[in-house]
Amino acid sequence: MDERVKSSVPADPGHWSEKSKHSISYHYKREYTDIDYVCWRCKAPSVFTAEDQKYTFEVKKASVDQRRILCGACWSESNKIRALLENCESEWVTSKKRLQRDSDFLKRWLELLVQLEEYVPYKPDIAKKNMLKKLLSA
Ligand SMILES: [Zn+2]
Repeated sequence: MDERVKSSVPADPGHWSEKSKHSISYHYKREYTDIDYVCWRCKAPSVFTAEDQKYTFEVKKASVDQRRILCGACWSESNKIRALLENCESEWVTSKKRLQRDSDFLKRWLELLVQLEEYVPYKPDIAKKNMLKKLLSA
């Protein structure tokens, strides 16, 4: 690890989400400081910067318990996969009868679910994977 100087920015917990305001840190948080971490997927050394924390918790109103586990590149890749999965889900809802027999569609969906597992420390959707495998083997 390099000896990069960590930067800090003042915190304004008054801008946190209502839920975050009920956390203990609401009473003592005075500033954000860069948080070093290693990407869970590619192991790249990464920083959840103080500025980014301020934006995440005070503008986007994310829970202050939220921690980063992915580097920027893996994070945006995982979001792409999630968006494609949402497309599959909504196609499925509208055309289930037809898609049940569309093995290209089923394979693509299954592939996306498997890909997403690389980016999250839990198995996201085992039930759906099993359903797709079953339909593919039918
Ligand atoms: Zn990464």
